Amino acid sequence: MIATPQQVQTDARPDLVGLLPEEADAAVRAHFAARGQPAYRAGQVVRWLYERGAFSFAEMTDLPQAERAALAEAFALTAPEPARVSRSVDGTAKHLWRLDDGELIESVLIPTPTRLTLCVSSQAGCAMACTFCATGWAGYRRQLTAGEIVAQFRGARRWAQENGYDDVTNIVFMGMGEPLMNPRALFPALSILNRGYRFGARRITISTVGVVPGIVRLADMPEQYRLAVSLHAPNHELRQRLIPLEKKYPLPELLEALRRFDQAGGKRITFEYVMIDGVTDLPELADELAAVVKEFTAFVNLIPFNPIPGTDWAPSKRARLDWFVDRLGRQGVTAYVRESRGRDIAAACGQLRAEATEGRKPVQIGSL
Ligand code: SAH
Repeated sequence: MIATPQQVQTDARPDLVGLLPEEADAAVRAHFAARGQPAYRAGQVVRWLYERGAFSFAEMTDLPQAERAALAEAFALTAPEPARVSRSVDGTAKHLWRLDDGELIESVLIPTPTRLTLCVSSQAGCAMACTFCATGWAGYRRQLTAGEIVAQFRGARRWAQENGYDDVTNIVFMGMGEPLMNPRALFPALSILNRGYRFGARRITISTVGVVPGIVRLADMPEQYRLAVSLHAPNHELRQRLIPLEKKYPLPELLEALRRFDQAGGKRITFEYVMIDGVTDLPELADELAAVVKEFTAFVNLIPFNPIPGTDWAPSKRARLDWFVDRLGRQGVTAYVRESRGRDIAAACGQLRAEATEGRKPVQIGSL
């Protein structure tokens, strides 16, 4: 467990971006009532916030100037500063966001012909220390607030609109951090996205390394958020070599929680499985993996290992990836190879590692 989840509070004003929709609505209503303003003003603000994604009260041009100023005094609107935007040759775009206290986090926009997926961070750094992950190696900094999670969506969506991309169709919590280790911000952020911005729960995926209480909580929710599980190994021995959390929540316990999620119905689980040459891609592991996954309404995403500094591991060979897909398929398990995106800007799975103050810079090609 993380010792002290510190929530930053650098501003005394309530942050409208991080409040639940009903809280934001009530706060703005009370604000206008106290100022003797008509009640419909609250509706105007809420529409600016959610429908138009306003970044500031100054943008809310159908409100009187004096009311915009009063709002800005009473409320904050979290809008992290884009410290850098890098754009890959394949259209993938990575934002480096500087938070109010100087922490840096990353989000990634991933276009495909039919989708625009936004990958968001849930923590600055990560405490899980998975051996194959660059964020894990960089260590843990702090929890994000709900406002800082939602602000990545607001900022990336506006950038996408301004840069000729379509609207964001999917959100995945696969950026920096372990979302289920930050429940205090994750669950409100999910509600804000779903009920405030009307982003369908089925288009939001929470990816976890296997935080059992968080999975159980998701299973028991009525909204059908999608779950991705970073399995990466089909047995306890191998998994604990890759993922320290395996010691706290061993595979049998994790699978029990997943059964509960699966039985809640309507929510297909994604199993993520990193393919590391000679480590996770041995032929016998394919059969073990099929045996583990088979009972679930699920599919497997095989992620070719993205090399990171500090390890000499290599991604599996193409032939082995294809062989795994075929072998799993023969046992009734659907598997896909997840194509690596944004490799040239270090935006691919497991490569996110915001370099704070040191002189180290990630590779940058085509950065804006
Ligand atoms: N903490 C969450 C989200 C993390 S990142 C989780 O563990 O699921 C999203 C995915 O990238 C995870 O499946 C993670 O295990 C994977 N990943 C991490 N490092 C990787 C690497 N070097 N190559 C390929 N995938 C990696």
